[in-house]
Amino acid sequence: MGVKKFEPLLVSRVPKELETDKIYISLECKVIIHLCACGCGEKVVLPIDPDGWEISYDGESVTLKPSIGNFQFPCRSHYWIRNNKVEWADMPPVQIPATNMVSSKKQNFWQKLIKRLFKL
Ligand SMILES: [Zn+2]
Repeated sequence: MGVKKFEPLLVSRVPKELETDKIYISLECKVIIHLCACGCGEKVVLPIDPDGWEISYDGESVTLKPSIGNFQFPCRSHYWIRNNKVEWADMPPVQIPATNMVSSKKQNFWQKLIKRLFKL
């Protein structure tokens, strides 16, 4: 249960069915999508933009900044992805980091984006 390591995949369009151990990077859509590393099956959509996530990808390994706090999901998972590896954040999940405050403001934007990407 849970993912220890992701395999990055560059895609132009995000597939409907996501694999648990893959992280999908779409530079065209400016998003990074993966299933929550805890194994709960929630889709995590991270926008790549100056207010969103910064991605380093060398063709083999991916590192994302800042950490990924899934406080909108029941699992409330919080982790980093560094060189494809999932590193669970030390911070207790009850604490909401500043990055999540930004993303909650953007929730509408995210929901629209998810709808567009998955044609919901
Ligand atoms: Zn989860």
